[in-house]
Amino acid sequence: MVRVESPSSINTYKQCPRKYYYHYIEELPTTPSIHLIRGKIVHEVLENFYEIDSKINSEDALRLHLFWLLEKTWSEHYSELLELNMDERKLKSYYDESKMMLQNWFSRFKKKLRVQLKNGSTFKKAVKHLTPIREMEFTSDNFKVRGFMDVVFERGDNTVILDYKTSKKSDITKEYRLQLGIYALLYEEEKGKRPDLVGIDFLKYSEILISVDDKLVEEAKKEIKYMHTKTITNNKHDYPKKTSPLCRWSSGQCDYYEKCFRQ
Ligand code: SF4
Repeated sequence: MVRVESPSSINTYKQCPRKYYYHYIEELPTTPSIHLIRGKIVHEVLENFYEIDSKINSEDALRLHLFWLLEKTWSEHYSELLELNMDERKLKSYYDESKMMLQNWFSRFKKKLRVQLKNGSTFKKAVKHLTPIREMEFTSDNFKVRGFMDVVFERGDNTVILDYKTSKKSDITKEYRLQLGIYALLYEEEKGKRPDLVGIDFLKYSEILISVDDKLVEEAKKEIKYMHTKTITNNKHDYPKKTSPLCRWSSGQCDYYEKCFRQ
């Protein structure tokens, strides 16, 4: 059976085939982490940011709305956060960092908003113009791959796809490049037109966009095809362990460390 892969399943396989096996074939549960939960919260805030009523009609009101959403979403996920058994001060530092990331994102949003207002838009129209399609999921039966895009801007003939990242670094790594190539491929298959730009919004820093060209899309196709040749079986021994510093590090370990090395 050919599995439907995703950017994260392919990147997991490349990181360690055994990890892929435990996660995607045995479907063993993973331990929640602050990075995963915090990432989910920040994504939710940005997804809901654009749902505003007529009372929000100034930059200040928008900023307050954004931080109110952070507080609300943080408290909605508080029981999950408590289960991490983190020191209260440490948890607070993640909250503050999330607020800083959103503040940074908002500063960039504000600049785009001001351009619209300067060009004569009303506040409502300017926000509407900057509102993207959020959380778009495409699956390709042809390439047996799926992707979940955080943000898609379609402006006339111009399309830009963005993914939010809360990571510490701001480089388009080969893993991110593959993810963006897959998004470009999926979008083109679904819409009959390539996006013009794809990129990562590194919330701590800024957006980095790359042009969509044949090379990007062909690289993604090649990786997907290669994956399908490697994940055709359900036999654990076809998924070797790839030991690396990602098995165990100073403050944690891979979810499957015990299975790999203690059993
Ligand atoms: S502990 Fe290491 S070898 Fe085992 S699944 Fe995790 S990354 Fe792979």
